[in-house]
Amino acid sequence: MLRTKVVCTLGPSSAHPDTVRAMVDGGMDLARINMSHGTRDDHRASIAAVREASRAAGRPVGVMVDLSGPKIRVGELPEPMTLREGDVVVMAPQEVARPGEIPTTYAPLAEEIEEGDVVLLDDGMLELRCVGTDGVRTRLEVVRGGVLKPRKGINLPLVNVRAPSLTEKDLSDLEFALEEGAEYIALSFVRRAEDVVDLKGRVGGRALVVSKIEKVQALRNIEEILAETDAVMVARGDLGVELPFERVPLAQKRIIQLANFYARPVITATQMLESMIEHQRPTRAEASDVANAILDGTDAVMLSGETAVGKYPLEALRAIVAIGTEIERSGFLERGPRYLTHPGLYSRGGASPREHAVAAATVDAVRRVGAPAIIVLTRSGFSARLVSSYRPAVPIFAVTPDPHTHRQLGAVWGVRPVLAERVEMSYERQADFGRRAVIESGVGEPGASVPVTAGFPFYESGTTNTMRLERL
Ligand code: PGA
Ligand code: MN
Repeated sequence: MLRTKVVCTLGPSSAHPDTVRAMVDGGMDLARINMSHGTRDDHRASIAAVREASRAAGRPVGVMVDLSGPKIRVGELPEPMTLREGDVVVMAPQEVARPGEIPTTYAPLAEEIEEGDVVLLDDGMLELRCVGTDGVRTRLEVVRGGVLKPRKGINLPLVNVRAPSLTEKDLSDLEFALEEGAEYIALSFVRRAEDVVDLKGRVGGRALVVSKIEKVQALRNIEEILAETDAVMVARGDLGVELPFERVPLAQKRIIQLANFYARPVITATQMLESMIEHQRPTRAEASDVANAILDGTDAVMLSGETAVGKYPLEALRAIVAIGTEIERSGFLERGPRYLTHPGLYSRGGASPREHAVAAATVDAVRRVGAPAIIVLTRSGFSARLVSSYRPAVPIFAVTPDPHTHRQLGAVWGVRPVLAERVEMSYERQADFGRRAVIESGVGEPGASVPVTAGFPFYESGTTNTMRLERL
């Protein structure tokens, strides 16, 4: 059983309920539904398959609905266009574009772009530079040419795009996600903390919000975003277009380290085993990439095209689990107590000093008493995420009476969620659920000491203030 969690994107290659079931059995902890592709019916069917497979396996596997956000695209083209280095081309809103011009879905482009700004097309394959505008149309010189196909993405790394963070489509997709009881809602192209606050306001605690870090602006505002968000994704696909690719590795390390400090689960995503879309085995570079993300401290690793459209979805999952298993067995991950505190952490919306003190004491107690496990009694899951951020060397049994929290916790590093009955919401009864789970899983023997954290008044959110050493 991996402590690092695995997120798999569902798509045509993993649409069949038997495949979903095999993925749940094979170690998928969170299923990602990408709203940029597929139909509402596809998404509904995939979510139903995850729910069914999770029930059948008796393992909490949650759903993450990934909203497209303000992604800017090339509009429809009658046929692919060839752009040659040195040519000057015109980009215009798709509503007014004339034959020979590049239509864009982002109407205000000409008002916001400035001379010299870079326009990247098709994941950065083609590069253009602004040489002027008339307020509606933008003239662009081709710096790196190629063949442009319709609907390709447009990235504007230097432009302060003022598009709202949630489009009409996102709002409708969000409603769908909440109806379906999604455990996580991801938002693409987050730029600043206000984008997160806005989404969280609409979600109203019904799901955890994952901010996808894939804009230069988001990197600049990373701490403010972390303070507000529940979780983050290192979205290397777009990040590696917006940033020079050579800056992605250090950006990844910085985001992961800060997310760990803020106790926000972090998912490392995109091209992890890219070659497995076509092949049965990963490249050595890909195996190293997965391993290094885990060593950096990521909570979860994510498969995208590999499981959504690839030829070998189950082999890709098997590969990522095999790499994770090897790293976790090595002992390289044990980080020890984290005495370091990060400036600004407490003032900025992270956990409170009291909550950090209890989490640190809990993880420290594991070494001192030789505990085989930690038990966290939690309603919202927050205390379990905080303990997890200290990366203890033993499993965290998170006991919650809430089935939604139970499924959310399945995606948090090192956590084994335990669903407790709501009856008798006393410390004693809930701690008992934890004790029994530790013994039944074979992780601990009767008589062993384990730290149990809880909040008093019992189960009131935000009250975690106690660590007790109990016997199994
Ligand atoms: P996407 O996000 O797959 O929705 O583009 C992930 C990324 O950009 O890496
Ligand atoms: Mn992206």
